[in-house]
Amino acid sequence: MQLQHQRAYTTASARLATEKVRVLSTIERLSHLPVAVAQQPDVQRLLSDPFDVAVQERVNAYLFNVATAAEASILYVLRKDALAVASSDYESGNSLIGNKFAFRPYFINAINQRKAHYFAIGITTGKPGYYIAQPIIVKQNVVGVAVVKISLQSLQNQWSNAPDQWLLLDEHDVVVLASDPSMRYQTATPLTAALREEFKQERKYANQPLPVLPILQNAAIAEAGLLQSLRSRYVQHSTPFTTLDWRLVKLVDTQLIKRTGIWVLLTMALLLGVALLGLLYWRERRRKQRLGLIAAEAERVNILNNQLQDEVTERKRAEADLRQAQSELIQTSKLAAMGQMSAAIAHEVNQPLSALKTYSASTRLLIERSRHDEALKNLTAMESVTDRMASLTGDLKVFARKSDTQQSVVALKQCLHSLVQHHNAPLIAPNVPIAWVAPEEEILVVGNQACIEQVVSNLIRNALDATKDQPEACVELELSGKDNRAVIRVSDNGVGLDDNRIHRVFDPFFTTKPMGEGLGLGLAIAHGIVEEMNGQLRAKNRTDIRGAVFEVTLLRQYQSVGVA
Ligand code: ADP
Repeated sequence: MQLQHQRAYTTASARLATEKVRVLSTIERLSHLPVAVAQQPDVQRLLSDPFDVAVQERVNAYLFNVATAAEASILYVLRKDALAVASSDYESGNSLIGNKFAFRPYFINAINQRKAHYFAIGITTGKPGYYIAQPIIVKQNVVGVAVVKISLQSLQNQWSNAPDQWLLLDEHDVVVLASDPSMRYQTATPLTAALREEFKQERKYANQPLPVLPILQNAAIAEAGLLQSLRSRYVQHSTPFTTLDWRLVKLVDTQLIKRTGIWVLLTMALLLGVALLGLLYWRERRRKQRLGLIAAEAERVNILNNQLQDEVTERKRAEADLRQAQSELIQTSKLAAMGQMSAAIAHEVNQPLSALKTYSASTRLLIERSRHDEALKNLTAMESVTDRMASLTGDLKVFARKSDTQQSVVALKQCLHSLVQHHNAPLIAPNVPIAWVAPEEEILVVGNQACIEQVVSNLIRNALDATKDQPEACVELELSGKDNRAVIRVSDNGVGLDDNRIHRVFDPFFTTKPMGEGLGLGLAIAHGIVEEMNGQLRAKNRTDIRGAVFEVTLLRQYQSVGVA
């Protein structure tokens, strides 16, 4: 825009210089005419004898010829009293001849031998023009004035075709010529009342109202700079005339500069838009890249998830398989146990049954032969066989049914002591006596005495069974109390427990004894009884010598009330 502004300035300056020359030449070209007219003898003669018609006719013809040849608007001669006595327009019906121009400054100046240049609108013609007057001097006396009126119409015609606005302002800032005729006779600055009065006297601008020209008043001065120029519609470039107090003005439309500005702005906006688009595109690309990375990560996680899920499914399947195998195993072992149990029960029952059958057959024979005493013996034997069967079914019943035995405080030392005494009684005279180790004090526990006796008897019986083939068998029953627990320990130096099957000794129907010697329920029942008394029954091998140790731990009771 600055460039555009400067270019406009340079162009305007150049154009102004050319146009100024043209204006000056239009005016100066005919400035010599009044001088020539003043020298003309007929003119001088006419002024000294105004009533010589022949001279007047000659002068008129002379003026007409000269004016026509020089393309002057009018060429005329005024007398000393300002009366027009001869004129180039003498033939027109509206001739100047006979009019007085005493009020015109050019006349006054010329008569007083001063420079007489003057712009005005013609009185008779109504046409504007530039007047140059020359005093006519005869024998050192001013006898009249020769005047030429120059039309500025040719300039006007040229400017009308130009694209720019041209204005010619006179010394009073009144537009005397404009490329747009409507601007003529308007002023750049408001006129004072005195001036207006003066113009009226001189009839300089005829009856023109001479208003202010807004375009000119609002136009910025070319030297004011770009910003100032942009605020106005026009910028005025002007040049003064050195010989004339006039100035020539060129109005440059700022529209072009503004349009350039708009183009620059649009281009900048476009560039900015492109940059912004680029930025957005770049950001979008980065976002997509990031999204791509996230998607890849998500895909990876997804794959891992799927793998994990597959693994979980696989594990679940393996677990299900395992469960299936386990349940099958349980089923198998259950079946095996049942088979074992059935075989054991069948054996246990069959034996006494066949015995009973044999006994009953022999009893019948003995009765038939009246051998009653022997028959009675048989019956006694049959009773003991049925008792054995009853005890077997009793064991089964105890195992099958959860007993609900009465609990009370049991004096353990006393209870076990009598058990050992009964076993070691001379009447029974066992092969292996039981060694009894007991603390000084009584040890009380909560439980059922009969059950405790049953458990301990069972353990002792097993120990005795295990030491059956030992030459120096030793079974020991030991009672001890530690903290809040009472421990009954039955140890032997028998065959000991098989390490691989030690965990199964409490399983029902687990037995290592031959058919008919054990049902494998003793330890299972004992375990159940001890648990019912909130105690623990544990089996292990001795560490010092070969042999097994069974330990019953019961909760100790310090209160002796209600000892059973
Ligand atoms: P049973 O005596 O009818 O076999 P139990 O349940 O009492 O049934 O015992 C199961 C098994 O535990 C026995 O067959 C035996 O193998 C083992 N057992 C029990 N006590 C002892 C012990 N003191 N020493 C070695 N083995 C024992």
